[in-house]
Amino acid sequence: MRAAVLHAVGRVLLEERPRPEPGPREVLVQVSSVGTCGSDVHYYEHGRIGDFVVTSPLVLGHEPSGTVVATGPGAGRHHPGQRVSLEPGVPDFTCPECRAGRYNLCPRMRFFGTPPIDGAFCEYVVVHEEFAYPVPDSVSDDAAALIEPLSVGVWACRKARVGPGTRVLVTGAGPIGLLCLQSALAFGATDVLVTDVNPARLAMARGLGASETLDVRESGLRDAGFEPDVLLECSGHPAAIGEAVRAVGRAGRVVLIGMGGDEIPLPLSHVQTRELEVTGTFRYANTWPQAIALAASGRVELDALVTGHYGLAEVEKALTAGARDPELVKAVVRPQE
Ligand SMILES: [Zn+2]
Repeated sequence: MRAAVLHAVGRVLLEERPRPEPGPREVLVQVSSVGTCGSDVHYYEHGRIGDFVVTSPLVLGHEPSGTVVATGPGAGRHHPGQRVSLEPGVPDFTCPECRAGRYNLCPRMRFFGTPPIDGAFCEYVVVHEEFAYPVPDSVSDDAAALIEPLSVGVWACRKARVGPGTRVLVTGAGPIGLLCLQSALAFGATDVLVTDVNPARLAMARGLGASETLDVRESGLRDAGFEPDVLLECSGHPAAIGEAVRAVGRAGRVVLIGMGGDEIPLPLSHVQTRELEVTGTFRYANTWPQAIALAASGRVELDALVTGHYGLAEVEKALTAGARDPELVKAVVRPQE
């Protein structure tokens, strides 16, 4: 099969590799669509994210959809031909975190496109059958791929306890911010203010249901007169985070999703006197069925986020598209093309 392999910073080569064989309880999936993520771009540009360092050739891509084409020993959940969305991280199922239901925190997680585990910018992948989720025909291949970033939004809304009538501030209108916006609305949020510095992305946020948008280059959050119950921080921008936290009302919840600097200034007295809860999020757990249901019902619009398609030979182009085009939201790789 063909695979797009990251060999060094800024260098992806198309290679022939053996097609993987499904092991016990695994399925072989022919990959249809793979979303590109900021973390793929980061590995491509810097060769590392924090403690995860690319030290040998690596296939990136962790937002895949596809079709089951073969099953391994003991795998009885899917038949060949089943269209699936893949949850790209398989934990060990047995450690204390897994047993507590927090399998996203499993220290032995094997996650696609994260060193040393190969990802899905290739024609075929194998995955544990429990991490391949059937999707109905109403969910496109691209949408089935974007269940992964949608899961980040769903998980953030669960952490923040977004519910009917919750007022939400989303800082950053990239793909994750736009999916946090849509998740919050699906969870029952009534007022969602989205901030960014990119007019095209703010326009998309309005189209997807934001009650208000704010270009923070033009006016400050302080002047917006909006006191959210929940901040879903998706910008990762240290200066923006402090100002956004200051806007949050009493007993509010702050979920830090965006990845920026390792350290940020936090307005601590505001957090203390208002009893804000501040939490990080790491990926997601048990989100796929809910995320698929939201996409299938039309409560969440995923195809609208896709702004470009690329074949397997064009992975570099997909990973650099964002730097060339400020209107780009989500580049999708189609490995069979
Ligand atoms: Zn575990």
